[in-house]
Amino acid sequence: MTAALSEPTAESVPPRESAPARAIGVLGGTFDPVHCAHVRLALELRAALRLDSVRLIPAPDPRLRDPPVASPEVRMRLLEAALSDVGGLEADGRELLRPGPTVTADTLQELRKEFPGVSLCLILGMDALSRLDAWIDFERIPALAHIIVVERPGAVAPPRNGTVARFLRARRHDDPEAIRTAPAGFVVCVRDIPVLDISATRVRSLRARGESIRFLVPDRVHDIIIREDLYAHRC
Ligand code: ATP
Repeated sequence: MTAALSEPTAESVPPRESAPARAIGVLGGTFDPVHCAHVRLALELRAALRLDSVRLIPAPDPRLRDPPVASPEVRMRLLEAALSDVGGLEADGRELLRPGPTVTADTLQELRKEFPGVSLCLILGMDALSRLDAWIDFERIPALAHIIVVERPGAVAPPRNGTVARFLRARRHDDPEAIRTAPAGFVVCVRDIPVLDISATRVRSLRARGESIRFLVPDRVHDIIIREDLYAHRC
């Protein structure tokens, strides 16, 4: 099914005189801590969508959830360690430098300025997608980026007649190649990539109980967490 693309605003999208030659993935999150499912998700999508790179961008103080356990600096350091030997994935600390609440639309607008004409792909797990209408300025996102939705074990789709479903329906495109035809504006649900059933919540609660988190987080992340005794006292 192909749906009409919503009209871009003057704010952002460059003219569509030619198909974007490059595509960049954006995976925002709390990363408290980064775990293997984040890294695998980014790698799987990079391959499936032929993205030039995927930028993993930690939010300093996400509004819509409990405050993170680790500081933004520690989470960023863990993310850098996780990605240090992984080609095509980048730890991007830009949100940590911006005061005030995290606004994904502002992050995308910054990236749009840095990468004019490039296809930007905001990656969202189904759990994050379901809360999209609580994000500040979420209506600005389609003018700035495509939205790539991935299923997640245990996460439910947004209600069929709710704001998020209506917002997505108008922009939905079933063919992932759509991201090659415009720099922004489509919603693509990717169903056939494997995702791991790991959450940062589980990693934190295992640590708080003194149990092993090996193979749930990258080895370098594991080593830092153990060495610095992170996540040991709260869940
Ligand atoms: P927490 O358990 O603390 O809520 P989390 O494991 O969900 O954390 P986040 O940093 O909040 O990790 O996730 C960042 C992004 O990665 C979100 O879009 C989320 O949906 C997605 N994501 C995280 N884990 C998975 C997973 N196992 N499969 C698919 N997507 C995931």
